[in-house]
Amino acid sequence: MKADFFAVKAATDDNYMPVFNRKQIAFTHGEGCTLFDTEGEAYTDFAAGIAVNSLGYNDPQLVAAISAQAAKLTHMSNLFYNDTQSALIAELVEGTDFDKVFLSNSGAEANECAIKLVRKYFYNKGACRPVILTALNSFHGRTLATATATGQTKYSHPFAPLPEGFRYVKYNDIAVLQEQAADPTVGAIMLETIQGEGGVIPATPEYMQAAEQLCRKYGLLLVIDEVQTGAGRTGKMFSYQHYGIKPDIITLAKGLGGGVPIGATLASASCANAFVPGDHGSTFGGNPLACAAARVVLQRLKGGLTEQAAVTGEYLRNALSSLVDGEKVLSVNGKGLMLGLRLHADIDIIKVIDKMLKSCYIIIGCGNNTLRFVPPLIISAPLIDNMIEALRLALAD
Ligand SMILES: *Cc1c(COP(=O)(O)O)cnc(C)c1O
Repeated sequence: MKADFFAVKAATDDNYMPVFNRKQIAFTHGEGCTLFDTEGEAYTDFAAGIAVNSLGYNDPQLVAAISAQAAKLTHMSNLFYNDTQSALIAELVEGTDFDKVFLSNSGAEANECAIKLVRKYFYNKGACRPVILTALNSFHGRTLATATATGQTKYSHPFAPLPEGFRYVKYNDIAVLQEQAADPTVGAIMLETIQGEGGVIPATPEYMQAAEQLCRKYGLLLVIDEVQTGAGRTGKMFSYQHYGIKPDIITLAKGLGGGVPIGATLASASCANAFVPGDHGSTFGGNPLACAAARVVLQRLKGGLTEQAAVTGEYLRNALSSLVDGEKVLSVNGKGLMLGLRLHADIDIIKVIDKMLKSCYIIIGCGNNTLRFVPPLIISAPLIDNMIEALRLALAD
């Protein structure tokens, strides 16, 4: 039976807590980079469920792995060992700068683990370094700690009292970072390499390198939030690899499970071993179903999809650059398949997004009046070409 849009909408609006501004479309299924709505309309997806569906929809290998795992074992607990989980974490750290993994279910949880690990690391040392520096305009999640780590007060202020221990620094400002990192109460610097929700704003190489050097100089931990940028999104497995730096902790989620919820916190042994049994945990984290999905995504990323994302990303960047006119369209920012098209403040991006939806293209917005392009990593040049033509028309109005 075909789902009726108005029934779906009414049941959602009646029963879901009113925290989302939803578009007037209900999707029922997808195939490749295409999503289908209740009316049977086909949309090309440049959002991928907010940088999540890295393999697109109905990927045969992913579907087979999830189905097979569901038939064997969906969930047990971390009170026992599990073969799928052990395989995933070995594959996740293999050849990386990290030794240990903690698995959770989301980006916020991956960051919570990182924050707790930083605090426990200094607790063990008997050092009073409770402050984590984060950037203005950053985004780290919606739990109380990660919303407070987020350098945008709209996410945290209404929910006071807030956890202590976060201090904000201007992004890409090395002088401010130098001054703050020298404060003996600071224990860590936590940054995105490209601010995603904040408007697809990349850190400069000099800034990231300064962050690393300051951490080494003062004995701080460098935490990179790779929740959006990780898992191949920017054309490398982890986006920090573009910068020639080595973080102590990174966090992953979004694209890692190809659509199945999973979060991961990776750390060097010297850092990770600050935790002892009982310090942290998760009921669902590391469940075999999510691990089976992430294993497929990792295998594909290592089997060429990451390089493909770099090449297609360059193609998309060039195509978007052809729209830059210095008047309405200001700049293209980002790396790989995480790109932003910044529009002049006078242009209402919601109108552009809605126009693109009418033309059956899914694009999302973010801070800084920017259109965000985070398609499935399997997106092709012809799909990009078609979208660019539709966008050219939408912007011409
Ligand atoms: C989306 C995002 C988060 C939060 O992830 P959730 O899975 O929604 O909890 C954290 N950090 C960054 C950089 C993100 O883009």
